[in-house]
Amino acid sequence: MNNLTEIEDLIKIISKLPGLGPKSAKRIVLKLINNREELIKPMAKILAEVYKNVSRCTICGTLKSNSIECSYSDCNFIDEKFDKICVVENISDQWSIESSNIFKGYFHILGGTISSAGQNNEDLLVSSLAERVKKDKIKEVILATSATVEGQTTAYYIQDSLKNLNIKITKLAQGLPVGGEIESLDDGTLNSAFKNRKTI
Ligand SMILES: [Zn+2]
Repeated sequence: MNNLTEIEDLIKIISKLPGLGPKSAKRIVLKLINNREELIKPMAKILAEVYKNVSRCTICGTLKSNSIECSYSDCNFIDEKFDKICVVENISDQWSIESSNIFKGYFHILGGTISSAGQNNEDLLVSSLAERVKKDKIKEVILATSATVEGQTTAYYIQDSLKNLNIKITKLAQGLPVGGEIESLDDGTLNSAFKNRKTI
């Protein structure tokens, strides 16, 4: 790969993706350069569009089109009114919970955990959670962070940030396997963790 810094840079970027290392990154890049028209061209186009048009809402943390301003009033994206809000680390956790149909309510996506690498506490959407709780007259906040040290530290931090609000705070039940990330749980485990959630 003499002087092909583009390829080296691409391998470096792809190997940063979850579940991929330098070896699989090289395989992916090889596949890409062998399929310029079918893969590289449309991928470059859609990546540019996603970069330009999609971002995280700075209040609820969900993905939104940049053309829509996510104000407090339409932040929930749904007309139905709920009095529960489920706090998760990442949008993939929300997708898992939604697809298992165990929870009806709003979501709040923190955007990570407190001590995960490179994660600054200020990057987590914590203060906007309290604002939403007040504005939407939320009665219960369900902490659905992972059963990892970081996830539990984050849950404690959120609990502390909400302590002056007169609301019920619950946490998913112990049934959660230690080290379990919400997105990797099966529907049955998620269901029982929600059903048996404990007030903290
Ligand atoms: Zn929002």
